[in-house]
Amino acid sequence: MTSEKVVVGVSNLPNQRYKIVSENGGIFTMMVCGESGLGKTTFVNTLFQTTLKHADPQQRRHQPIKRTVEIDVLRAVLEEKNFSLRVNVIDTPGFGDNVNNNKSWQTIVDFIDEQHDSYMRQEQQPHRDVRFDLRVHAVLYFIRPTGHGLKPLDIETMKRISTRANLIPVIAKSDTLTAKELQEFKLRIRQVVEAQEIRIFTPPLDESEVPDPAVMEHARQLIESMPFAVVGSEAKFDNGQGSVVPARKYPWGLVEVENDSHCDFRKLRSLLLRTNLLDLVLSTEELHFEAYRKLRLEGSGASDDQSVPARAPARKLSHNPQFKEEENALKKYFTDQVKAEEQRFRQWEQNIVNERIRLNGDLEEVQAKVKKLEEQVRSLQLRKH
Ligand code: GDP
Repeated sequence: MTSEKVVVGVSNLPNQRYKIVSENGGIFTMMVCGESGLGKTTFVNTLFQTTLKHADPQQRRHQPIKRTVEIDVLRAVLEEKNFSLRVNVIDTPGFGDNVNNNKSWQTIVDFIDEQHDSYMRQEQQPHRDVRFDLRVHAVLYFIRPTGHGLKPLDIETMKRISTRANLIPVIAKSDTLTAKELQEFKLRIRQVVEAQEIRIFTPPLDESEVPDPAVMEHARQLIESMPFAVVGSEAKFDNGQGSVVPARKYPWGLVEVENDSHCDFRKLRSLLLRTNLLDLVLSTEELHFEAYRKLRLEGSGASDDQSVPARAPARKLSHNPQFKEEENALKKYFTDQVKAEEQRFRQWEQNIVNERIRLNGDLEEVQAKVKKLEEQVRSLQLRKH
């Protein structure tokens, strides 16, 4: 296990919202799952704007295939202003890498169940230690960008995960597909998800009496974009408009990670760390953990998920009146905060652009003066001779 302190840049975390909900300080646990080489490590580092995790050099050198799926836990503290959020990232190296991937998903679902189980036991203790709460709030399932369809292993694993945790499928390395291929691929995945009745996490729509149109529109956009097409990059490049941005460079230009017309990274980041962090935490608590507890108390165990009853989709969360009012107020507060922060950032960017233009102007003026002086010196020298 690794632990480090990380400062998140401009990406504002939904600090107030989160603090109110969490008794023990903010904790967010995210699992990344998918075959090796799909960009999971790069995505995590791009999301948190730091090298939280180093790529496995063994994978790079194509060493002999690992026989078992491992669980790798990374701990970090995200700090922003007066707020700190403990983040746990669970990686599952070795998943899907074998010739026979039968039951490759077992380690993953066992891990999720074990965390529910250990939290149940912790609950009975007079003093709980939050470090032991590793209940998974979101599982990002990375799909290979083949453009064809989902593999049986993808379907099987997603089905099993979705009965236990908030599943968020993502199309890995989406810059390797054309816009048309990507749209068709998304459609095909959505059809399979529906036909196979895989329950994916969907942001709840604002169901209050006076819904906030901006919040509704944002949730609708997130739902329409699923499965999110992601691009990750630890490198930054000048985008030709005065900004240095995370991107992947091609001979024909840049694929910008944070550009909505290039990929869905910003939408996914918003869902995970901004607008829906609270929903992910609450639905884990209220739906998945409660369903697990009920099952255990009834004595049926949860090791085989065929015995896990179908659970309500995550959007039911917003029906809980206990949180509704508080959530709406916080949503508004948070949206205002994000808008203000984005405005501040835009202004800051603009100032940099203006400053650059001014400096370029000054530089040209100085260069012209130097040239003129050089010419004067030359003509004086000629006259002297
Ligand atoms: P992991 O094994 O799933 O953790 O994958 P890594 O993050 O180690 O990435 C494997 C390779 O894919 C590296 O060479 C990355 O630079 C590259 N990569 C990561 N993300 C992307 C992406 O979004 N697009 C493209 N084209 N390559 C990527």
